[in-house]
Parts: sequence; structure tokens; C-alpha cells
Amino acid sequence: MLFRKQVFGLIVAVVAPWALVVPVLGTEAGTVRVLLWFDTEDYLLPADDDATLRLCRLLSNRGIRATFKLVGEKARVLEKRRRSDVIEALRKHDIGYHANFHSVHPAPAEYLAECGWADGVEEFIRREGPGADDVRRILGVPTLSCYGQPGSSWGPQTLAALGRMGIAPQGVPCYVDSGSHVGLGGVPFWYCGALALYKMSPNETRMDLWADGALEKACEGFRSIHGRLQAEGGGLVSIFYHPCEWVHREFWDGVNFRRGANPPREEWKKPPQRTAEETEAAFQRFERYIDFQRSLGGVEFVTAVDLPRLYPDRLRSEGGDLGTVKSVVKALEGASEVGFVALENGVRLSAADQFVLLAEFLRIVYTSGKLPGQVVVPSALGPAEPPPKTEVESLDGRAFRDALLDARDEVFRRRQVPSRVFAGVRKIAPADFLRAMGHAAREAIALAEKDPVVGLPEKVQIPKGTRIAAEKHVAEDTPGLFGGWVIHTEGFRAPRILEMARLQAWTLKPAK
Ligand SMILES: [Zn+2]
Repeated sequence: MLFRKQVFGLIVAVVAPWALVVPVLGTEAGTVRVLLWFDTEDYLLPADDDATLRLCRLLSNRGIRATFKLVGEKARVLEKRRRSDVIEALRKHDIGYHANFHSVHPAPAEYLAECGWADGVEEFIRREGPGADDVRRILGVPTLSCYGQPGSSWGPQTLAALGRMGIAPQGVPCYVDSGSHVGLGGVPFWYCGALALYKMSPNETRMDLWADGALEKACEGFRSIHGRLQAEGGGLVSIFYHPCEWVHREFWDGVNFRRGANPPREEWKKPPQRTAEETEAAFQRFERYIDFQRSLGGVEFVTAVDLPRLYPDRLRSEGGDLGTVKSVVKALEGASEVGFVALENGVRLSAADQFVLLAEFLRIVYTSGKLPGQVVVPSALGPAEPPPKTEVESLDGRAFRDALLDARDEVFRRRQVPSRVFAGVRKIAPADFLRAMGHAAREAIALAEKDPVVGLPEKVQIPKGTRIAAEKHVAEDTPGLFGGWVIHTEGFRAPRILEMARLQAWTLKPAK
């Protein structure tokens, strides 16, 4: 059970094609950043409070800040038990969020499985928002640095909801967890407008707290990742624990909420506890593991609150210039699928970014007759519904302009790529419309070279059957993906969540 986040789902090696063309970033080349995070969740066994306190202090004594993701009910019991010592010790670290009741049913994926997009976002905020408010109030912090789901209870709507739940340090919501629903082969990425540290293998590691020889094995594992990342010019390592692991024999929630069990609060049981000697030995082993990491060169401990600074999205702050538009137009040419665009200057564009960029670029061209120097590109979510089949072969210039202005208005007002673009009564799949915008932008740029006032194109071809390449980074629907977590019912599957997740592949892009 100690490795429960790692045991479900398939670990599929992802070949990241952009990794081949993207130059290594690195103002501090070679720095290996370690994000140490603790899911602080056991609200039943009081010894978990002491384990949390000891972890906070042993790290603070070493000058290390970690990210503690608190469950709402955990913060409330700390307050009820008057553990101001634990709260004060936690406040020296970075505070994130880990759901309101964690494993009381329905868990997030259990209710999101029944939802579409907008109602899923609202339902997550309704159920989990009050717990986030409690964590902020009790810990005395204005914002929480990140959220990550209980077990495998994941859904894309949660990432989109975070900015509305006080989880937005520096305006950027962050998602930190371990799991396999979506990922880019071990680097942080953008998804649904959030900066996500997820599916970090091969850059995720941990030490078994109990096994003989675990320390040596874990140090070797860390050294190997450290060496590889240094050779790559630097990178980020994700390491997670739960404070309760130091004191229990079995997870608190497995004791109560296993496979759909949902006893009333009056019947919640404490998990069985380890002996003081066992707990002591595990703390000492852990301290040696952390000291080993500190002993290696170029290691820097970071927290979730540092992520927006370490992985800025320059497209958002700087917008796109004509060179950016030309790169997108080139990437869209002749392709039957839309992928990420990675520019040499470090700017990355998801499919949704490309849609927003070209819609705004063409709006300015068609309303002013001039090419804009710079285009703002706000964040937009992927479509809420699967696309229709495109019903149009081509549009004349005026009809294309009208469809474009309507689509641009929708994506800017709703901050979401339209589920379908209307050309009068006829529907166009948004990915097909994106490629059509690519054709139109290419023509506008060519016209501007001949004539200072750019007119409308005569005719714009509308392609068909365009796919979003990033969908392949969303996990397949296997029995273990959701059902592997012992709290979910045996064989629990959530195809609607994965459908929503694939639609949000529009928003996926590497953060480095
Ligand atoms: Zn948890």
C-alpha cells in the first residue's frame, strides 16, 4: 500500500517528439530541483499530527521547504485538537490542497464520471471548495499553492476549477500529484490552464521507509536521476510521501472506505499504529535519504509555489508576434493533425493557443486591413463537447470572415475553444477550422507583401477529419486506471472523464 499511487494504471513510456527539437532551457544549467510533497490527509489517527510536526521540523532544521497538501478535514481536526504547534510548523512550509474529505464517497472521479464539462467544474467547486477555504483559514494563508487528487480520483475539470478556489499563486493554478491519466514523459506541462506536475516518471522517485537495504537502493536511484538530469542541463524530480506512512500499519482510508464502503462518521475507525521503535527507525532512514540528496552537487529544493516562476508561459505574458503566427501557419500546413508548436525562443503553443492566436490575428487583419505586430493570447480551455463532422467544403471570403469573427468572439468571451464553429447553419469541427485559419493567415501574410491594405481572401478551403495529436498523451481506459485505487469500487471505470480529458488535449503543452 505504500506505493499505492504507483501501482495502478500502466506506466507507458512516452516518446516526447518535441524533446528532440527543443533546446535545453537553463539559466541555471545543470540544477536538479527536488519537489518534496506530502499528502497530509489522515484525520483519524492522532499520531499523524505528530508525524506531520516531526517532518516539518526535520526539514526546516535543514533549511528545506516542502509542499504539504492538506485535506480539509485534516486542517479542521488540527484546529479541533488545538495543535497550534503543528499548524505553526506547517506554516513554515508551502501549503497545498488535497480534497475536502479525500476518501468519503463519492470521491472526485466518482461524481465527475457522471458529469460533462461545465457541470463537472461546478460540482468540483461545490464539493471541494469549502475544504480549500478551511485550509486557508486554519493555516492562515491567502492562497494555496496547488491541488492534487486523492488516490486515482482524477478528472480534467478539477484543473480548470482551481483558479476559482483560491489555488492560484501568482495567478497560475498548479496541479501536483502522481498518476498516469495524462503526462509528457517526466516534465511539467500545461493542461486546462494549470501548470501540472503529474506522471513524472522517470523523474519521480521515493524510498521505501521500511525495507532492509531500502536506503542504499533509494540513494542509488536518486543518484541515477540526478546524473541524467545534470547531463540534460537540469530538471525537476518529484518525491512524495504521506506523514501517516510513518505511523500507521494500513492507510486510514482503506480501513474505512475500501471498495465503496461508506460508514457514517460515528463509525469511522482509527487505523492500526506502528510501534514507536518502528516509527523512529523510519524517520532516521528518511533523514539519511534527504541528507544524501543534499550532499549531491547542484540540488535545489523547491515547492509548488515556485513552479510558475520556474516555468513561465511566455506566450501568455508576451503574446505572439508575426514570427509566431508564421511558425504556426507552417506547422499547420499539410498536416492532418494539430500538434504542439515549440519555438526556438522557448515559447510553446498548444492547439488551443494556436486557435486563439490565429482567430485574433485574422480578426485584426479582416477588420483593419493590416497585419498586427503583436497578438494577445489568453488561455482558453478545450471544447466542452466532441466535434461534429464538418459540413462545409469551402467558404467564400465574406462567409469565412463572418464565421471567424463569431468563433473569435466565442473563444475570447468564454475562454474555451468552440465545440463547433458555425458558418450560417452549417457546422465546422474546431480542429478543421483551425487548419482553415492557417490557410487564411498564410494568404493574408502573402497579400500584405504585395499590398499595404489586406483584403479578404476569395475562397478558403475547409479541411476535414483533423485530429488533435496530443490526445495520445491521455491514458487509455484500462480497469486499473481508476479502479486500481482501493477506495474506488472494484472495476470502477470513468469513460466520460477520459472523453473530457481527450477534449482538453487541446490545452496540453510542455512547460519547458
Ligand atoms: Zn491522498
